[in-house]
Amino acid sequence: MPARRKTRQVSVGRVKIGGDAPVALQSMTSCYTYDVDKCVAEIRKLAAVGADLVRVAVPDQRDTEALREIIPASPVPIVADVHFHFERAMEAIAAGVHKIRLNPGNIQDRDKVRRVIAACKERGVPIRVGANEGGIVERRDKQQRAVEQAELDQDYAAGLIRIMLDKLDEYLRIFEAEDFRDVVISAKSPDARIVIDAYTAISRRYDYPLHLGVTHAGPPETGRIRSIAALGTLLSNGVGDTIRISYAADPVYEVEDGKELLCALGLRPRTEPELIACPTCGRVEVDLFKLVAEVRQKLAAEIKLPIKVAVMGCVVNGPGECEGADVAIFAGQGRGIIYVQGEQKQTVTEDRMLDALLAECRELESRVRHGKAKLHNARMSITAPDAAS
Ligand code: SF4
Repeated sequence: MPARRKTRQVSVGRVKIGGDAPVALQSMTSCYTYDVDKCVAEIRKLAAVGADLVRVAVPDQRDTEALREIIPASPVPIVADVHFHFERAMEAIAAGVHKIRLNPGNIQDRDKVRRVIAACKERGVPIRVGANEGGIVERRDKQQRAVEQAELDQDYAAGLIRIMLDKLDEYLRIFEAEDFRDVVISAKSPDARIVIDAYTAISRRYDYPLHLGVTHAGPPETGRIRSIAALGTLLSNGVGDTIRISYAADPVYEVEDGKELLCALGLRPRTEPELIACPTCGRVEVDLFKLVAEVRQKLAAEIKLPIKVAVMGCVVNGPGECEGADVAIFAGQGRGIIYVQGEQKQTVTEDRMLDALLAECRELESRVRHGKAKLHNARMSITAPDAAS
């Protein structure tokens, strides 16, 4: 993969975004922020599955008041999502929030925007500026709106990206005039192709860190592919400093998928088991899907090291396809042959496969913890066992 694009760096509490910092994973609560207990519980749940930052919406004063209790109770820095109200931004900053999301275009009075910038500057609070598809086209100035609409009619994607860049230029001039550079930029769209092209263009024009996201992607079933397609492409091109996958579902799924994406691209070290499994074919002789689902669930609950576990449906192609696995099982003809780091350990009947595999994982975990084994021994390889024996 190309090297990460070098950007400025901002500090969101103890989490750094941009520069040489790892890509930060964030999510957003789905409850009312003023419901402090619920909000804190949701933030803790998101942090526990891997969120580095959590954003909360603050549409009302009772939400910014709640921040005073939420921030000290949160294990991760908190971002306040401010939309139209300058007062909410000032209250959130006074409450000690670590970052705010603000679109200067939503606050008509430029003097108010300058006051928010001054307050952020004084407290070292960065601002995320969004040029997202949903709110980018001019709403108030009819003449300007007509010009932008004509651009979109001619070529929607190219026109939209041009408008995004123009608006960002305009917003960033306001920040730079105040010598404020703790800015993170986003330019989200529901269309993966627009997201890729917009962020690529922005990354070439500015050195501010980028917050990647596909907006309004729908539930995980429909949003997962477009989110991973867009964010995976950008990240693998070295673009992106923090990500949020957004789903119309429990935000825990956003964090789980974001974490898997970062691990898959080598941008975040794995801390949990990695499961590889064959898709099955006409050679399979056991209920492999059931076994895979059970192994996945048990590994997640019991093993706390990034052991690579392979569950394969036969011994024909299995060994070659799971090269590098720490623990592997080849199932077939009502039994399973288990390997640990290249060594054949045991052959068990089908009803014993799950327990025996987990026992080998636990034993390996214990040996690694006591310094008697190392994970991902690159020299390890598995020779196909004799299918007839
Ligand atoms: S490991 Fe065996 S059963 Fe699984 S897909 Fe490959 S050939 Fe088919």
